[in-house]
Amino acid sequence: MLMKISEFFKNLPRKKCTDCGKEIEEQHECYGNKCNNCLGVTFHH
Ligand SMILES: [Zn+2]
Repeated sequence: MLMKISEFFKNLPRKKCTDCGKEIEEQHECYGNKCNNCLGVTFHH
């Protein structure tokens, strides 16, 4: 299966939440490696 180079690089920077493994859509570096959901849970804990 061939993959376009552009597609490949587009997928590279995607992060995954270290807690639940869900892909993090927003790419703010300040968020670290957790999705908004897990961040919210952490803050409310
Ligand atoms: Zn998460």
